[in-house]
Amino acid sequence: PCRALLLGSAQHPGWRGEVPLLVMKFGGTSVADLARIANAAEKVRREVERGYDVIVIVSAMSGRTNDLVGSVEGTSPMFDAREYDAVVSSGENVTAGLMALALQEMEVPARSWQGWQVPVRTTDAHGAARIEGIDTENLDAKFTEGLPAVIAGFQGIGPDGRITTLGRGGSDTTAVAFAAALGAERCDIYTDVDGVYTTDPRICKKARKLDRIAYEEMLELASLGAKVLQTRSVELALRYK
Ligand code: ADP
Ligand code: ASP
Ligand code: MG
Repeated sequence: PCRALLLGSAQHPGWRGEVPLLVMKFGGTSVADLARIANAAEKVRREVERGYDVIVIVSAMSGRTNDLVGSVEGTSPMFDAREYDAVVSSGENVTAGLMALALQEMEVPARSWQGWQVPVRTTDAHGAARIEGIDTENLDAKFTEGLPAVIAGFQGIGPDGRITTLGRGGSDTTAVAFAAALGAERCDIYTDVDGVYTTDPRICKKARKLDRIAYEEMLELASLGAKVLQTRSVELALRYK
């Protein structure tokens, strides 16, 4: 079962029979403070009301990961990458718990999960680990303990049993990986711009918003540095559609 992702979602039996599944990912600015977390939770609640099972993937609050990286570097310039991961993964743990609480406040019985609890299995490349598989066996049963399942993005567990992180921007990849592994109907990425543009709209006033973009074009934009999606998330999306 931990190979499910590598084998492809076609082989996966699907999510709880006929219940449609939606993955909703909220980036740092979308969970930057308690009001924004409540706002994001309200978007989740609306999808639940429409009849979806929802898996929510959250990033750390805006700026939090940079602060944590600073703390690591300030303590140990030649840091042990395993301890770097232990520290920098923690921002997502906070938002996952807060998002679950915000949903519970709206009578939506959510529960949070850290990467290792699922588990999200990764390589041992600390600081830039790749997702190798998500244990999908019994995941639907596990997740019915509390739905929506709110998952801390950007993190997993390596072969040595230690916490790993997926590289900066890695929550996008967590979101796509769950969508692929569970055969989601859609993977929605919420961020601080209203779409993918021809170039960074914060830098170039002439940037045009694109209605659609091919996987290959998005891959090119991402690998040239458009951080709106992490490159690996686009690679996974291309592979698993
Ligand atoms: P999040 O925290 O939600 O993951 P990011 O900061 O990682 O958000 O990514 C969103 C940012 O990506 C935008 O604020 C924008 O400045 C930048 N960006 C770069 N290239 C593009 C592009 N082609 N289209 C849209 N946004 C882009
Ligand atoms: N919080 C992590 C970062 O800032 C992961 C993410 O936001 O996607 O890189
Ligand atoms: Mg990002």
